[in-house]
Amino acid sequence: MKTLDCALLTLDRRERLVYWPAARLTLDKGRIAQARPLGRKARPGALLAIPGLVDAHCHLPQYPAVAADGGELLPWLKKHIFPLERRFKGSYARELSRLFFKDLAAHGTTAAAVYLSVYKEGAEAAFEEGARSGLRLVMGKVMMDRGSYDDAFARKHPRRGRAEVSLQESGELCARWNGAAEGRLRYAYTPRFALSCSRELMRAAGAEAARRGAFVQTHLSESRAEIAAVRRDFPEARNYADVYGEAGLLGPRTLLAHGIWLSDAERRTVKASGSVLVHCPTSNAFLSSGVMDLPAARGADCRLALGSDVAAGPSLDLLEVMRQAVFAQRLAGAHKLFSGAADRALSRGSAASEVLGAAKAFALATVHGARALDLPVGAGTLTPGAPADLVLVDPAEYDPFAPAPDGTAALARLVFRGSRHAVRATFVAGKLVWGKA
Ligand SMILES: [Zn+2]
Repeated sequence: MKTLDCALLTLDRRERLVYWPAARLTLDKGRIAQARPLGRKARPGALLAIPGLVDAHCHLPQYPAVAADGGELLPWLKKHIFPLERRFKGSYARELSRLFFKDLAAHGTTAAAVYLSVYKEGAEAAFEEGARSGLRLVMGKVMMDRGSYDDAFARKHPRRGRAEVSLQESGELCARWNGAAEGRLRYAYTPRFALSCSRELMRAAGAEAARRGAFVQTHLSESRAEIAAVRRDFPEARNYADVYGEAGLLGPRTLLAHGIWLSDAERRTVKASGSVLVHCPTSNAFLSSGVMDLPAARGADCRLALGSDVAAGPSLDLLEVMRQAVFAQRLAGAHKLFSGAADRALSRGSAASEVLGAAKAFALATVHGARALDLPVGAGTLTPGAPADLVLVDPAEYDPFAPAPDGTAALARLVFRGSRHAVRATFVAGKLVWGKA
């Protein structure tokens, strides 16, 4: 049993904002046993407890390429990313994994969906370090049987195809790690994107993931050059989303990064499947990919989450990702960037019901992210019975006028001015996974 006296800011399970300047949190057996406000006379908490943040899309082996500037998606992958992912083996993979998980926790992230590289050996090291980190992680070895950077493959497997080996290794990793570390680790079949995979590989990956109750994660509709190439490679598919739909990759445990240029028909496909669109606004700006039509995604009632997409996103800081998401949507609205359904939704919206404000962005990185990653019930909130996944931040780092007078102000100051530098301690299941001395 552990008791924390602090300020508290969270959404409850119905996504209503809760703010108590003086609160007491009781943690027991990895869960929040009690969360209650202290009386009016109580001194406001010096530290503010918020729910652990959920990063629903990032790439561990790419971490050293953060802020490698210049170029759009496809050339950027070739120039900066594939050479790095090719190195993800041995002690290098282990040390990089250790650093990455430590940094996730230091940024207040308690759960993440993570791409590894094509090598099983590097993936094993990442899972071992992931187990040690204490974080909740959905991870998978990247699957590529077209255009792979693994140029030693033919030498190592003279009689076998890439798809066959990729499926076998993914199956072995899934068998070992899916549900490991008290359920904190989950496996995701990870076909990189349609351009890196044959139809056969995607089909088999979808079937295996379903059979094993594993996640699927991939990229969808990120850059226009990518979409044109998908159209060329899959001429019989009606659209990009259908390439995955036909392969059986879509479902409620599927995380689709980006979805910037989706058509209405594609959004209906995504919605019907229950798949999650993971919005990555900092990455989309960094690679000049575009602005996601969030009003249309909301209009189609698609499930949503938020991702840093490190290394295309330059930082693991989800507070930064939240505010960039808000800014991009506000500018897109001001410039009437979106048309059709999106435009109608926007013209209906007053300032009060804007597409994405601080509270909705915060919801994406907490409650919705937690659901996307199928975390234990209540995750993403600080409510009794929820897992004790929480972050203590110091508002003095970003708010010269702390404590905020009300919940709306407290949340806006956190989202628009907060950063990783305010994070003091990060807990998962009641256990300290990162903390400043
Ligand atoms: Zn990505």
